[in-house]
Amino acid sequence: MERVTEEERSRPLCLIVDDDPFVVSMMTAMMGRIGTFDVRGFVDPAAAFGEVRDGTDPPDVIILDINMPGMDGMAFFRGLSNIGYRGGLILSSGESDALLRAGEQLATSYGLQMLGSLSKPPSLERLRELLDAARADFEPSRRAPQRVTEAVELARAIDAAQFACMYQPKVDMRTGELVGVEALARWQHPDDGLLGPDAFIAQAERHGLIHRLTRRIFALALEQQARWARQGVALRMAVNASVYDIGDLAFPDYVSDLTRQHGVDPRALVIEVTESGLAQDPRILMEVMARLRMRGFHLAIDDFGNGYSTMLKLRDFSFDELKIDQAFVHGGATNERHAVIFRASVDIGRQLGMHVVAEGIEDQADWGFAAGHEVDVAQGFFVARPLAPDALLPWLAQWRERIADGEIVSRSR
Ligand code: C2E
Ligand code: CA
Ligand code: CA
Repeated sequence: MERVTEEERSRPLCLIVDDDPFVVSMMTAMMGRIGTFDVRGFVDPAAAFGEVRDGTDPPDVIILDINMPGMDGMAFFRGLSNIGYRGGLILSSGESDALLRAGEQLATSYGLQMLGSLSKPPSLERLRELLDAARADFEPSRRAPQRVTEAVELARAIDAAQFACMYQPKVDMRTGELVGVEALARWQHPDDGLLGPDAFIAQAERHGLIHRLTRRIFALALEQQARWARQGVALRMAVNASVYDIGDLAFPDYVSDLTRQHGVDPRALVIEVTESGLAQDPRILMEVMARLRMRGFHLAIDDFGNGYSTMLKLRDFSFDELKIDQAFVHGGATNERHAVIFRASVDIGRQLGMHVVAEGIEDQADWGFAAGHEVDVAQGFFVARPLAPDALLPWLAQWRERIADGEIVSRSR
């Protein structure tokens, strides 16, 4: 097959993967009418996957049949996630809508960029709609150079101190008392304004810049924590770590040095860990987490119930804190399936002796729902949005008023 480099290629590339040759040729014809893409069709999913993994010309979109012999859609997602595929994904299936929805969710949980689903037989209109929605990303003139500048720009931004943290309060559900904050990274981009983590964490991981970024964020958070302590506000600080940080044997020493430097008690630092599909040596992860715990740092399992944060991890390692993913908290009072997962997560946390935190408490109903269960700590927009450092103390005064006014009904013991 002829290969082209990124600079040479003028049009984005779409792969069509379906074990039915008729579907492949029909979709190829449709893509021809849409016109934007170069198209390659595959009836053998393993061959298509090999092309994505080993080819020098990464596709921008893959249209994937979920149900194929040999390597089905699910196995394909896992593979794409393992090799860090960053393009878009469209699922197609002749099966039920429910199967397509489940496939979409699975793909999203693997960190893949889902553009949507096509029921078979596919319609030209629907295909056009899905591709249109994502078209901005395929602008060929922007594509190739962007990958290079992205890395350079990020590295410069880290050095130029363009990163900052917002701090979101965590409050005790029995007393309403402020127990800590979570540091959430933001990029003060000179042209694009304030950017959230979706705009840079995965990119930093991909370009090998995540250790530098994490260290910058930890340093900012601990500095702020020490500043608040000097103002008489003793808070537990929670900071997010990437699985790459936990896979770094030098990480515990870095964190120890930093806490010593700022005079922060290790027990007042919570390191929030999210499992991910990225292949990391589990023995190293275990070693790093065990060492952090031995030194007194607290570890939280983040996004529990969603993505990769599952029972498996808890079987092998004991965390101090379990954070139930916001997907099962907001609206839990009215969604029975979410409520079931929520209750099971609370039980697991309690029985394993962990602090249970509910994230995504957005409104009074969510608060009431969580307060009706044995949740220790609440976090979410209902309590406070992530705040700039100076906004914390004014927020605290208001929060105390809300409690005094009886707006916050505490959890029964
Ligand atoms: P997370 O650790 O689960 O953090 C909570 C996210 O939920 C934050 O989004 C927060 O703004 C948002 N949130 C808080 N309360 C509510 C609510 O009531 N409703 C809704 N819908 N959302 C709420 P943010 O700041 O955009 O961060 C997204 C994710 O990025 C974080 O999820 C975390 O996984 C990651 N992240 C943030 N900062 C860092 C960092 O310094 N390092 C690493 N590795 N990851 C980070
Ligand atoms: Ca977190
Ligand atoms: Ca979370």
